Amino acid sequence: MEFDIDEFKVQGIKVNYYYICKRKLWFFSKGITMEDKNDRVLQGKLIHENSYQRSPAKEVMIDDLLKVDIIEDEYVREVKISSKMPLADKMQLIYYLFYLKQIGVVKRGVINYVKEKRREIIELNKEFEEEIVKALKEIKNINLRETPPKLEKLPYCKKCSYFELCYAGEGDFNE
Ligand code: SF4
Repeated sequence: MEFDIDEFKVQGIKVNYYYICKRKLWFFSKGITMEDKNDRVLQGKLIHENSYQRSPAKEVMIDDLLKVDIIEDEYVREVKISSKMPLADKMQLIYYLFYLKQIGVVKRGVINYVKEKRREIIELNKEFEEEIVKALKEIKNINLRETPPKLEKLPYCKKCSYFELCYAGEGDFNE
């Protein structure tokens, strides 16, 4: 597939947020950060430090842009606490596989869900490539917006670090 990755490349976390909430992606892209009371970032860091100690390459930076958990011979491996956001986690890894392919490196992907002690193997295919191209184009458009996408009430809003920002003045979340 002909695609200029240099024009559309972004950090993996932005692809992840794109599949969680486009408004969250916009806040993050504009450098707006909020304290995360669930401290998932810290939890994630601890898990990365304690997991897969024997893996040959951990937290690999690619082109100063993508922070990949582990690269082994055949696989790019991502370590997640649980499968609460399976689509977002999967598409983030697919983006890594797609990016690597664009620079001439072909790998398969695997996500390790630590709490559930299970893993999911992911292979890049044409359908995923088309989906990622579409997502990268839309992410670019979202980044260029001057105002955030409209608030959509999502089931996980209460656990989102931007909850107070989004729902200030909204009254009861359950209304
Ligand atoms: S609180 Fe909900 S709408 Fe707001 S950024 Fe988070 S997920 Fe998106």
